[in-house]
Amino acid sequence: MVAGYAEIVKSGLIGQESLFAWCEKHGAAVLSRDPEALAEAVRQACAFKAGVVAADEREEQKTDGRALLNLGHTFGHALEAELGYDGRLLHGEAVSIGLTLAFSLSVKLGFCPQEDLIRVTNHLESLHMPAHISDLPHRFRITDLMAHMQRDKKMQDGRLSFVLAHGIGKAFTTRDVPAEAVREVLLADGATP
Ligand SMILES: [Zn+2]
Repeated sequence: MVAGYAEIVKSGLIGQESLFAWCEKHGAAVLSRDPEALAEAVRQACAFKAGVVAADEREEQKTDGRALLNLGHTFGHALEAELGYDGRLLHGEAVSIGLTLAFSLSVKLGFCPQEDLIRVTNHLESLHMPAHISDLPHRFRITDLMAHMQRDKKMQDGRLSFVLAHGIGKAFTTRDVPAEAVREVLLADGATP
């Protein structure tokens, strides 16, 4: 439930502030399997995803487009890959942490107001969802996580591709993230040097 719900939260964070606000109000009901809340969450997430996919059906957009659906996934994939996909960390749990990392990185690079990061973190924590690397009982080394991300996204001149955000519901793609900023965000979130 938590893993699936993280992807719904992600949808709101990418492009629909009203969906995220709905999550803040009804997330606890969704996770307690309230049938009406569940149905509404799935309906809104499907409608959102259909809109994004329809607008970029063949993945031809050079910026934004379907790539926005990867918000939180560059970090998330690195955490998952590091644990070898053995069930200790579900995809959506990794995405949950990836979302706060993507917002932290957006704040660090000056794109996103700190209040929006706090709002994202508060929402995940209020539902006891994983929000930080330090929430996990495993140790992650920054160099290992960076290696996964560089493999995932082909680094060019020390710069990485990411989905970042100007705020809640305002995600965008960029190919210009300095690796050093990513390292600093990982360190602050609980990864080890
Ligand atoms: Zn996913």
